[in-house]
Amino acid sequence: MTLSNNPQPVDAALVPRFGAIPTFMRLPHLTDPAAVDIALVGVPWDGGTTNRAGARHGPREIRNMSSFMRKVHHVSRIAPYQLARVADLGDAPVNPIDLMDSLARIEGFFARIHAAGAVPLSAGGDHLVTLPIFRAIARDRPIGMVHFDAHSDTNDRYFGDNRYTHGTPFRRAVEEGLLDPKRTVQIGIRGSIYGADDMAFAEQSGMRVIYIEDFTAMGVDKTIAAARETVGAGPTYISFDVDGLDPVYAPGTGTPEIGGLTTREAQAILRGLRGLDLIGGDVVEVSPPFDPSGNTALVGATMLFEILCLLADAVARRRG
Ligand code: MN
Ligand code: MN
Repeated sequence: MTLSNNPQPVDAALVPRFGAIPTFMRLPHLTDPAAVDIALVGVPWDGGTTNRAGARHGPREIRNMSSFMRKVHHVSRIAPYQLARVADLGDAPVNPIDLMDSLARIEGFFARIHAAGAVPLSAGGDHLVTLPIFRAIARDRPIGMVHFDAHSDTNDRYFGDNRYTHGTPFRRAVEEGLLDPKRTVQIGIRGSIYGADDMAFAEQSGMRVIYIEDFTAMGVDKTIAAARETVGAGPTYISFDVDGLDPVYAPGTGTPEIGGLTTREAQAILRGLRGLDLIGGDVVEVSPPFDPSGNTALVGATMLFEILCLLADAVARRRG
């Protein structure tokens, strides 16, 4: 593979950023996952949402705002499109009126990407979409996770006996042997809970829960160290729920909780994850109907670029 032949974003010096068809990072839209090392994918589905819906509209707005992203990370100097073949693989198929069918369709789409040897980086969608992604990429061995969120998403059931909502994906992922709880770190957890034992599953299964109060006491560097120690050298996924940020920075989301991370803190933590064996990531819960300024979609696009740089670096390291 010659690096110069990698797909490249539309050159903003030739076509202004407000022009051309919006794809993730202004990259080509390709359909063959074998043509890429990293597949950018939209998952326009919010059928797992328990309160305010709207994240189904996230991928389109994140694509639009991702036109603000340039080619090189200004701190790490990682140039993702030099290190790896990256393209917009389009949206996973979904069924807005059938939850179980959507889970099957999403899994099938990501299974095709995984089978081709590509690493997925997706924009949701609500947080339940991470479960079918895990089913597609983690069946052969459980993976670790760095999870940014206000919520643990390890509840059991909602509305009677419904086991699949955006509040349950990581409990299901542990039960299904897809996620190793002892290699899972949750960062930014906060907000009122349904019952005093809501966090029992996360804590008793061995997840490292860094509540926002812990983060405040620890600071960025100790949080990075704790995250790296928890996930270790094994395959690790980054899942970034935009509600882990304070709603001052990310108001356009379904389940806002005050007192969260700043965008700078989240960026600093992400940058500290360089060098891990990263095998995928997502940015979820951007809900454009609650995002009148468009800033939450810009935040989502920027976090997607931060994670993309980490993944490209990981792809290049594995290639040797
Ligand atoms: Mn979540
Ligand atoms: Mn959340």
